[in-house]
Amino acid sequence: MTQDLTPSSVSLGSVAAPARVLIADDDQTMCAFCSLALTQSGYEVVVSSEAEAALIALREHGPFELLLADIQMPGLSGLELAQTAREHDPAIAVVIMTGHTSLDTLHGAVRRGVADYLSKPFELEELRDAVDQALQKRRLLQESLRLRALEQLLSSSEAINATLDRGQLAQVILARARAHVPSLAGFLLLDGAAGLPSQVIAAPTGATLLAAGRTVAAQALSEGRATAIAADEPLCAVDEQRPTRGLAVPLRAQNEVVGVMLLSDDRADLVSVGAQEILSLLAIQASNALRNAQLFGELDSAYRSLRELDRLKSEFIAIASHELRSPLSIVMGYARMVRDRSEGDQRDYAGRVLEGAERIKGIVDDMMRLHDFDRKQSALTIEPWPLDELVRQVIEQLVASAQQKGQQLLSALPEAPLTLRMDREKARLVISNLLSNAIKFTRADGTIQVVLERWPHERLLAAVSGAAPNPTLRQLTAATPQAWAVVRVQDNGIGIARDQQARIFDRFYQVASSLTREQGGVGLGLAIVGDLATLQRGVIWVESEQNQGSVFSFALPYEL
Ligand code: ADP
Repeated sequence: MTQDLTPSSVSLGSVAAPARVLIADDDQTMCAFCSLALTQSGYEVVVSSEAEAALIALREHGPFELLLADIQMPGLSGLELAQTAREHDPAIAVVIMTGHTSLDTLHGAVRRGVADYLSKPFELEELRDAVDQALQKRRLLQESLRLRALEQLLSSSEAINATLDRGQLAQVILARARAHVPSLAGFLLLDGAAGLPSQVIAAPTGATLLAAGRTVAAQALSEGRATAIAADEPLCAVDEQRPTRGLAVPLRAQNEVVGVMLLSDDRADLVSVGAQEILSLLAIQASNALRNAQLFGELDSAYRSLRELDRLKSEFIAIASHELRSPLSIVMGYARMVRDRSEGDQRDYAGRVLEGAERIKGIVDDMMRLHDFDRKQSALTIEPWPLDELVRQVIEQLVASAQQKGQQLLSALPEAPLTLRMDREKARLVISNLLSNAIKFTRADGTIQVVLERWPHERLLAAVSGAAPNPTLRQLTAATPQAWAVVRVQDNGIGIARDQQARIFDRFYQVASSLTREQGGVGLGLAIVGDLATLQRGVIWVESEQNQGSVFSFALPYEL
């Protein structure tokens, strides 16, 4: 017997359809009387005048909410029939009709969960009252069972959400399923190729899924609905036992079937409607958790490979910069010597070799600095220092490059010294990086201006509010000094498109590929600038328009 139940038909609310009653009495006149009375009261009635036929009706035409049975029937007593009915569905209400009532009979009836009995002959009203009350009791019982089930489901949900490890999760899901629906064995299979379940990922030790069990799982999986089965063949083997009943529930997340859960036992109530309801609800939670665990697993492995890649990159930077240093100092040393000892063309050539080597040294130094940041080995030397003086020195250092390009380099610095506590050398590196970028990315006849000002905190907040995010801005929530010393490097060069502005602070990122653009560099400057600024609670931001120019601002907390 197979009975299907789509998860969508599972509900915890009351059932609106008329209650179904099974009447079992070998007295056909009695059957007809009860059937007429109950049908008139709005019940759906199935009648059987033999105990055997009633058993078949219970199995094949159920579920019934109520069994109304005569206590004395040839073959099987009404009480035995009640017991079988309750094994099949523990929630079924039972009313027994009896000609004579002994105390013994009453005890037996109570033991078998009989809700009420009717002494023959009884009036129509008595019959209706007894049936109504028994159904009312059943409803109350069901409500409290559902509440208990909901509580258990809630605690299952906590347990299920406590892990993101797929294997562990499968074990938890299966353990919870078997706690809700006690069963000899349980299996959790993931959706495999060609719609067939594969990979038993959780099963109790000593249990083996047999071919018939796989078929049931495959059926539930392909149909996408809960399937209860009482098969002819055993579904699984657990030590010496070979249960033939099973309940398979597909696991779906976001309309996609991700696997199937199969519980197996010989108990008749394993395939009851209540068990299917609970399991289907659990399946919804389980499926989502499994799906999340799967996504988390994929994300985690992607993250691991990215981290590994990052480690390799850092290692490469460390080795390359270290290995380049010694040969580079030899090249620079000899180039300097040759330049100083020679004249004419030769002196000129040696000078160019030296310039080139110095550019390589700049890159190697940048790589070393990044390596130091990564290993948190950049120590700070904080002391009071006039920032205006520092800006002046950087300008002096770079004015020749700007002039060589035919650019105008202007500055607007405060007249009084602007002294603050900072790491002078690191601040110098930041400003000279920003200024050399401005020179690099501005046309020959362009203008560059360096401005130094003292800003109140609110002005800085307003200025960064529209800026593209970068790591230095993240610390603004924590760092709230009253005022800031702000160095602004403004150019009317090539500018940076809005969608690139958040990326230029990434390591090795360049708006135009270094292979195609005219300017040199490897895309490390702003990454270093960002790290250096962060180290001393400084912030950097950029305002730029493509083909219009850029303003890079570097702000340090103004505190003494
Ligand atoms: P590099 O200068 O070595 O390319 P940076 O990290 O200093 O690397 O800069 C990253 C990218 O940001 C540059 O390649 C360039 O595309 C862009 N950029 C930086 N400063 C400016 C600027 N003042 N004007 C236009 N683009 C700039």
